[in-house]
Amino acid sequence: MSKNGNGHKNNGHIVEMAERIATAEFEAYNPKAVIEDAVRLILLNVGEDPDRDGLLRTPHRVAKMYDELLEGYRQDAETIINGAMFDVEYGEGEMIVVANIEYVSMCEHHMLPFTGKAHVAYIPRDKVVGLSKIPRIVDMFARRLQVQERLTNEIADTLETYLDPLGVMVVVEGQHSCAALRGVKKHGINMVTTAKRGEFRTNPALVDEFYRLAGIR
Ligand SMILES: [Zn+2]
Repeated sequence: MSKNGNGHKNNGHIVEMAERIATAEFEAYNPKAVIEDAVRLILLNVGEDPDRDGLLRTPHRVAKMYDELLEGYRQDAETIINGAMFDVEYGEGEMIVVANIEYVSMCEHHMLPFTGKAHVAYIPRDKVVGLSKIPRIVDMFARRLQVQERLTNEIADTLETYLDPLGVMVVVEGQHSCAALRGVKKHGINMVTTAKRGEFRTNPALVDEFYRLAGIR
């Protein structure tokens, strides 16, 4: 029995953490430290010893990894796109394709990574956006807890909102580690999602042209 009498061997840690959060550290609230505490709790509760050598720095490493993989929560499209839109003379109805944008995301159901490539095409009305901004938009949405379908739509909707193009289409390919590790236990499954806006909805020839230019199968 532990000294607080409920017999649960991990309760002391929870009380200690709650006290720390409630008192001194509350003023300098540090999400990364709270995540480290949470990882330590996971280690304890799967039956590990978080104080053994190999695990000592694991909470710190995991918190740092989440900070990187989920940095999209601290970014916004306005800041990324702002100042990088240009009025450009471009062939009427011609498309711009940015293909093979590699991304790393994390599925919101299991907090396991999914990775793959995004391909983006748009037909400008009068505005184009700097080439480097499209991969940054992809990254911003990828680095949040996601499902691939929503990731695909959010990229398309953002470009539609800011550029008001005649059409936009996004294809996302993804390999989900939760599918490989759990349930179906199949490696190498490629999930493909698409989002079409404007002329891409009504003109299948544009869709074919996009696939050809992007080199998607
Ligand atoms: Zn999942």
